[in-house]
Amino acid sequence: MGSDLKGIKTIRDFELKDKIVFLRLDLNVPLEAGKITDETRITASLPTIKYALEKGAKLVLASHLGRPKAAGDKKYSMEPVADRLSELLGKEVILVEEPKSDAVKALVKGAAKNQIVLLENLRYEPGETENSEDFAQAMASYTDIYINDAFGASHRAHASIDALPRLLKNKGIGFLIEKEIQMLNQLLENPKRPYLAILGGAKVSDKIDVILKLMDVVDGFVIGGAMAYTFLKAQGLPVGKSLVEADKISFAKDMIRRVEARDKTLLLPVDHVVTTDIASRKVMTTSCPAIEENFMGVVIGPKTISQYSAAIRGAKTIFWNGPMGIFETPEYAEGTFAIAKALSENTGLKIVGGGDSAAAAEASGFADKMTHISTGGGASLEYLQGLRLPGIEALKPPKISGL
Ligand code: ADP
Ligand code: MG
Repeated sequence: MGSDLKGIKTIRDFELKDKIVFLRLDLNVPLEAGKITDETRITASLPTIKYALEKGAKLVLASHLGRPKAAGDKKYSMEPVADRLSELLGKEVILVEEPKSDAVKALVKGAAKNQIVLLENLRYEPGETENSEDFAQAMASYTDIYINDAFGASHRAHASIDALPRLLKNKGIGFLIEKEIQMLNQLLENPKRPYLAILGGAKVSDKIDVILKLMDVVDGFVIGGAMAYTFLKAQGLPVGKSLVEADKISFAKDMIRRVEARDKTLLLPVDHVVTTDIASRKVMTTSCPAIEENFMGVVIGPKTISQYSAAIRGAKTIFWNGPMGIFETPEYAEGTFAIAKALSENTGLKIVGGGDSAAAAEASGFADKMTHISTGGGASLEYLQGLRLPGIEALKPPKISGL
């Protein structure tokens, strides 16, 4: 299961010297007032960039950034990324505004050893999200070898991910995608047991498909975050003014039934840290799973932390998606950080997926103790559901009919 990488070339398989290599990266970093607030995606892209440079490739780097509403929307310019890349690589980064123009070819060919070309935000071009053949043709016209290393964007059939590689014969993956897929495959192919899924975050509805998929493979679920209140409500408990998805209560009931029928574990919070007003940052701890009227659960409580930590101690494979509470607020962070700590002490396979979960692992100080933190939130969840990623599929050699 999981799309294997059979038949897909990697960057190692090509002679890169003097070739124009189109490197699709995920440089979609969070920005605040023009400053990069988390550069994980840039640093995760460096091994492939450096390898290509060492092998003498002429590089065209490309990525999307955020969701610009119009071409040239300055807020989403790749400029801060270009500056940071320039510092990290010690090269001048030439930012090209017109990815469709013939000028790209000339620029790349003429680039000096200490220069490297980066295309402006691919989403400035409407053809990118439309998976436009025209836009793909324009990019193909200056590409000798196409390498996709944008794991976080590979679940989207966009022009630079799907239409472009379909036009080309010389195509493959970079080191980041290779690692992501190898790591995630360990969850899909004979994971060591017990296998525990820790799920949290904002909404049950975001996670239904992955929960359904995991139901068949994991030995137990540990549920926290806002998601937990929908489950507690499904068990008939009062949850005060905690976030509940009323239309997902029946799904939660059904899931509880199915998990019990399969003799799997499902742990729900037995106590909570609550507040009357999120903005106040004033907290109380409940002594039981029920939450009184006027109170809202913001994170799992201390008894829950010790129960969940014990479950984590006993597991050999762990997938964590979704914080245990509102970890962005320091007063509400402890439950989530405690789970990260418990993971750090486990010696098995520990894989973290999800944008906010990755941020939480980072903020906890235990990120370097995880086996793998996926750079692609949506992509990792879709991959684990067994969905095929367009960005991987487009790299497979065409099937010959009749064979
Ligand atoms: P990921 O990006 O890792 O998939 P999600 O996006 O599903 O995770 O969930 C992360 C968000 O859920 C965080 O912003 C966090 O503040 C929020 N959240 C977690 N627990 C609660 C809660 N009890 N009440 C409100 N929001 C919560
Ligand atoms: Mg999120």
